[in-house]
Amino acid sequence: MPQYDVGIIGGGILGLATAMEMTSRYDGLSVLVIEKEAGVARHQTGHNSGVIHSGLYYRPGSRKAVMAVRGAEQMVGFAQAHGIAHERCGKVVVATRESQVAALEDLERRGKANGVPGIEALGPGALREREPHATGVRALHVPSTGIVDFVGVAERFRELTEGQGGEVRFGVEVTGLRAVADGVRVEMGEETISVGQVVNCGGLFADRIARLAGSTPSVQIVPFRGEYYELKPAARRLVVNLIYPVPDPAFPFLGVHFTRRVDGRVEAGPNAVLALRREGYRWRDVSWRDTVETVRYPGFLRLASRYWRVGLGEIYRSASKRAFTRALQALVPEVQASDLVRAGSGVRAQALERDGSLADDFRLVEDERMIHVLNAPSPGATASISIGQAITDMAAGWFGGAATKEDYRI
Ligand SMILES: Cc1cc2nc3c(=O)[nH]c(=O)nc-3n(C[C@H](O)[C@H](O)[C@H](O)COP(=O)(O)OP(=O)(O)OC[C@H]3O[C@@H](n4cnc5c(N)ncnc54)[C@H](O)[C@@H]3O)c2cc1C
Repeated sequence: MPQYDVGIIGGGILGLATAMEMTSRYDGLSVLVIEKEAGVARHQTGHNSGVIHSGLYYRPGSRKAVMAVRGAEQMVGFAQAHGIAHERCGKVVVATRESQVAALEDLERRGKANGVPGIEALGPGALREREPHATGVRALHVPSTGIVDFVGVAERFRELTEGQGGEVRFGVEVTGLRAVADGVRVEMGEETISVGQVVNCGGLFADRIARLAGSTPSVQIVPFRGEYYELKPAARRLVVNLIYPVPDPAFPFLGVHFTRRVDGRVEAGPNAVLALRREGYRWRDVSWRDTVETVRYPGFLRLASRYWRVGLGEIYRSASKRAFTRALQALVPEVQASDLVRAGSGVRAQALERDGSLADDFRLVEDERMIHVLNAPSPGATASISIGQAITDMAAGWFGGAATKEDYRI
């Protein structure tokens, strides 16, 4: 007999959202979350920009589009209901050159097709009314974008999970997974437990965890670090809310921006450089195993051969504060290098296809007795409640006969 009905690997926002949803929906279901760190949200969830994305950027009909729009509403509702710091402050996306206007118009159409409410096109004057220090030829105002304390959200997901009978164990790393007749044996160093089913929300290690289980994932995770600067307190006046550039459709995560945080700090960034360790937050964090695995992957070689110039530009901006500042000055010309201090960084788990393209949409893959979350980049935190519900829907077949509560409602 398995000791737990479900084992969820990863105590980031997705593992915890799934645990919260499963324990809420199914009475008496025993759920264990296994997290290798000493607390929740120690990796992507705790190192992100803290933005509740509106759903503006994503291909209409994609999981990202649907789950970001729905997830943003759910996230705001959750934060309100649970007293978690958040604000629906809106953002502007700024075309700084005429050549970007067509892309901005595409973005407006996309946002409207995705059901993002209240998008408004702004001329230079209207932009200055919203962001007096930003300059651009055209802009979009997106009122449904917000900011939130995602670590606080993840912590609350944990509390709710435990309150509903789930368990969360910290400091325990999953090192092996073996499917057997009645479930899955989960090896955690010396200890082995048995669970009925597994959900893999291992973030930067999700592909490796899938391989531990004998799966052959179609993608490999390549870690891209995003480094931030912060505006010194005296310079925070330069940014009212959130100021973004027009994204490059080929690299939606490129393009540094200004983000006000819920604690009043203003961050600038992040850039995107290859991390030499999956959880490598600084250049000096190097894992030969991780690096060799990346550079031997055909998908990475193809990406690098196509876009090495873009990659070098990002490395240059990582090494040179002056270059980073120049990128920011395109949006807010008054900002000076002396206004910026280095802040933290985050590492994105970016799934790469073998052909060298970035896996774009969220990827949830079902295998025997397992669900693997193989790609959950931004807006994964925004969409977390929605993703937890989708995983629980996928898992519904596992729990045939279990009592079903009403769907999780905020
Ligand atoms: C720089 C950056 C900025 C971003 N900005 C935003 C934003 O503004 N808005 C937004 O919506 N999204 C943003 N994102 C995306 C968002 O952070 C992610 O989509 C989300 O955090 C993914 O959550 P997760 O639970 O899958 O991953 P994680 O938070 O990384 O959690 C995975 C967990 O699995 C654990 N784990 C791994 N292997 C094992 C193992 N073998 N055994 C036990 N535990 C294990 C890890 O320790 C980790 O805690 C950003 C991401 C980054 C990196």
